[in-house]
Amino acid sequence: MSQQQTNNTTGFQITNQNTFEDTNRSVKYLCGDCDAEVALKRGDPIRCKECGYRVLYKQRTNRMIQFEAR
Ligand SMILES: [Zn+2]
Repeated sequence: MSQQQTNNTTGFQITNQNTFEDTNRSVKYLCGDCDAEVALKRGDPIRCKECGYRVLYKQRTNRMIQFEAR
């Protein structure tokens, strides 16, 4: 009765490997246009929720995150 090792190839799934904190934690950005505070979670589109502007500044950082609008 050793039928455990039959499908061992894909039997081991590592699901949600990155479910540490990143899922719930949102990062706050400042809109480059209207200066609104935009909280983005992981996977959210980089875009101001007030005006739709796509250049957001990360708070505390001087680094600019820019997504070209084509
Ligand atoms: Zn804005």
